[in-house]
Amino acid sequence: MSEKRFGSIEAGGTKFVCAVGNEKFKILETSIFPTGEPDKTMAHVKAFFEKHPVDALSIGTFGPVDIDQSSSTYGAILASPKKAWQGFNFIQAVKEWFSGSVFLTTDVNSSTYGEYTMGGAKEDASCVYVTVGTGIGAGVIQNNQFVGGTTHLEIGHGFIHRHEADFDFSGVCPYHGGSCFEGVAAGPSIEARTGISGENLPQDHPVWTIEAYYLAQLAYDLRVNFAPAKIIFGGGVINEELIEKVRIQFEEINAGYVVVPSLNEFIVSSTFEDNASATVGNFALAQKVLNEDNQA
Ligand code: ZN
Repeated sequence: MSEKRFGSIEAGGTKFVCAVGNEKFKILETSIFPTGEPDKTMAHVKAFFEKHPVDALSIGTFGPVDIDQSSSTYGAILASPKKAWQGFNFIQAVKEWFSGSVFLTTDVNSSTYGEYTMGGAKEDASCVYVTVGTGIGAGVIQNNQFVGGTTHLEIGHGFIHRHEADFDFSGVCPYHGGSCFEGVAAGPSIEARTGISGENLPQDHPVWTIEAYYLAQLAYDLRVNFAPAKIIFGGGVINEELIEKVRIQFEEINAGYVVVPSLNEFIVSSTFEDNASATVGNFALAQKVLNEDNQA
């Protein structure tokens, strides 16, 4: 039997990343192009996979999106700020030209699965992955299943306790202003306060203390709600100095209450380069859906 090939489609707000991998989830081919109108963008996707055929595909997309496999609108983008994509159904669009197995989840869930299979949580039965970039999102996996009931989690929009030195900042979430994690801790909030992007902000800037306070609350919420073996942070805002600050503030917030492993092992940053966790996660999810379809 010839070796299987797996496809990954990362549908981001500004760019699409298509990739082909082998059974070891090694990236063999990749193509990156800007996110435009659905028809034009999907024509690029189709052309890529016609040139590089695969046995199964997994899509990790921006949301909100219907990820319920039993739903009649499984794969459809819901009330997205990207108006042209509202109501667009990825699964149906891909099935017009691809007859193999297809899986779809959120981009952050794809990254979480990458961490779970090949990344920082590959030895663990459970993990949480948090991305802190233009937005904040988190995926939770327990015993090889995503946690979530009717749809994907929206932990980035959970309510927060504001830092006393940050009361004057009104926040950037269009729905919750400065009352949710995304409103005060995602990349655009750092830039709104300082005029400098998180990637370029000096490490001794006081905003990092505020940022760490919020991410420590998020890590604490994730710990008390899901009790994962590990919490992994990724995304453009994350760096090792920040993670160390998060650990210190986590300890203060927890105040010795919940038992956690050594924080150096419990709260970590992603070891994948160029956010490849989502690509690898999609390869693994494509393999999983192919195996499930073969058994069905
Ligand atoms: Zn919000």
